[in-house]
Amino acid sequence: MNRRLLRELSALLYPVRCPVCNDFIFANDSFCPECAEKLVRYSGSFKVRGSAGSTAAFLYNEAISPAIMLMKDGIMGNAPYALGGELAVRIREAGMDSADLLIPVPLSRESLEERITNQSLCIAEEVGLRLGIPVCGTAVVKSAETLPQKELNKHQREVNLHGAFTVAEPEIIAGKTIILIDDVCTTGSTLAEVTDTLISAGAGKVYCACACKTPELQADDETTEV
Ligand SMILES: [Zn+2]
Repeated sequence: MNRRLLRELSALLYPVRCPVCNDFIFANDSFCPECAEKLVRYSGSFKVRGSAGSTAAFLYNEAISPAIMLMKDGIMGNAPYALGGELAVRIREAGMDSADLLIPVPLSRESLEERITNQSLCIAEEVGLRLGIPVCGTAVVKSAETLPQKELNKHQREVNLHGAFTVAEPEIIAGKTIILIDDVCTTGSTLAEVTDTLISAGAGKVYCACACKTPELQADDETTEV
């Protein structure tokens, strides 16, 4: 059964809602028309240290933040479908879709217990479905608990995260071209640290793709409430 039909049938029992405003929408829509109009497709560019390239689907602003906040609270709804769908388009446009593997930025065990689901894994699964690329959510783990990044500036974020990630299954990533998937990228410190960890453990090449990217920040104003 094709996916469009499957979503239409499933919507008879579980109606699909806009992940931003919670209005009912058609089974195969991503957002309601009003919210879709307010969202801003990311059009800038950003570099992640050590990565071969990076892309983002949406600009992180107040229009899209309700969908991100709900996912962080473990309420996924239609958000992975909507955000992952757009991210898959952007990955293809950036020419990164020949990658071998998608890896979501992992949460620590404590955060995962709190949130139940890793929102970046849910987004990665949608991207994987659309691009036909396998997803591995267990290859990298966050082995150390760290301070919340949102309270730190860029330098503090890098120090905070240093050594926090470990490759648990090096045989899965050896020589592979990987796309690292994240929900929101602010300074890129997390993506840079996971990229370093993957390359050090034998990955061939790492791209970074995030559902949302915050606007570029001033050098002295590098903390953002995400
Ligand atoms: Zn809406």
